[in-house]
Amino acid sequence: MGELEVLRHFTRLSHLNYAIETHFYPLGSCTMKYNPKVNEAAARLPGFSLAHPLAPPELLQGALELLYGLEQMLAEISGMDQITLQPAAGAHGELTGLMLIRAHLSSRGDPRRKIIVPDSAHGTNPASSTLCGYEVIQVPSNPRGIIESDKVAEVMTEDVAAMMITNPNTLGIFESEVQAIAEVVHAKGGLVYLDGANLNALMGIAKPGDMGVDVLHINLHKTFSTPHGGGGPGAGPVGVKEFLRDYLPVPRVVKGRDGFSLSEDHPKSIGRVRSFFGNFGILVRAYTYIISLGSDGLEEASRMAVLNANYLRKRLEGTFHLPYTEPCLHECVFTDRFQQKHGVSTLDIAKRLLDYGFHPPTIYFPLVVPGAIMIEPTETETRETLDAFADAMIGIAREAKENPTVLKSAPHSTPVGRLDEARAARKPVLRWEPAERK
Ligand SMILES: *Cc1c(COP(=O)(O)O)cnc(C)c1O
Repeated sequence: MGELEVLRHFTRLSHLNYAIETHFYPLGSCTMKYNPKVNEAAARLPGFSLAHPLAPPELLQGALELLYGLEQMLAEISGMDQITLQPAAGAHGELTGLMLIRAHLSSRGDPRRKIIVPDSAHGTNPASSTLCGYEVIQVPSNPRGIIESDKVAEVMTEDVAAMMITNPNTLGIFESEVQAIAEVVHAKGGLVYLDGANLNALMGIAKPGDMGVDVLHINLHKTFSTPHGGGGPGAGPVGVKEFLRDYLPVPRVVKGRDGFSLSEDHPKSIGRVRSFFGNFGILVRAYTYIISLGSDGLEEASRMAVLNANYLRKRLEGTFHLPYTEPCLHECVFTDRFQQKHGVSTLDIAKRLLDYGFHPPTIYFPLVVPGAIMIEPTETETRETLDAFADAMIGIAREAKENPTVLKSAPHSTPVGRLDEARAARKPVLRWEPAERK
């Protein structure tokens, strides 16, 4: 094929992409915020992008200083004592954090077998617990969407290694009892793990480290920008309190009189969890993001994320059923209860949004909300975009009443129509036929 044919092929494919740079992307729990281009410029600096990971530390001083500095900044933001940047994703951070907990409890001669996980948790929480060899005990959230310390006390025993809790939780609600829950768990010798993937509502305002948390992970590819559509790469740094420091993965970046070096000399360490230093390019982007916003900027980002989510919550309440009515943090969860009367479900609403030019929100998650529609606008969207999205949602609700068949067969304007999603995942049809040739 000629160069032009190849170029056209790939350019056409690129136009089928859906990206934050082309469309609004309100995917709840995923924080699909805009990634400032200065992050990309920094990650492409030759000293970073061309550095060989096996080069001796003397030749990597800038890169090591960046890692050290990022650890310090994330410790300050989260209120933890020490951070490891190795884990490559949130779920990987969870597994690392649980391994730290296991190492600590084992060294006490009391390894324990169970982890408590809320019913509203991200699926990775029970998955990571199971992968780490623990049995999962579920604790229910109350009608206001939060976990009560009394409910935790009912299941907390001396065989529970830790309680995992997400704050703000996946319903977008602040877990106001974290401190009381921590007291219950600590009183029986367990540890508190915080799933901090949703730090976008807290940074600059509240620190999980002040809430009795012993271990947490943060998703750099959510809160600290860095692109993560299409599955990565990401970074899920883990933060710990002082008493867990010795168990952190090696190598650790240390600062000495002669500059920065890598230290393997930590006999209690759980070892490596990732090759080299983790996803270094993502770490450069997060560092740049934090430096360029500063502490005031990070706080403003959190406040805007919360404001935008509450703006959409107010604009859509009444049109869509809102199972939890109190103010939300960074995201809000609706359901299809009002539309079910017309035979229209959450899936139909999500598919129809594609015709209006919007990426659908997260759907059917969290599992505690039947027919969930989970909207996370993030702070980087304008009021005009939020209004256009709300207008589309309200238009779809009107269609549900007046013309439900158009919803049942949506989308109508995309390269392919309604797919059998199970088959599309297992037997994808990768050959593209232009419509006119069919
Ligand atoms: C995204 C998310 C995770 C998992 O993070 P990955 O990087 O996708 O592994 C875990 N918990 C919560 C609450 C999340 O939103």
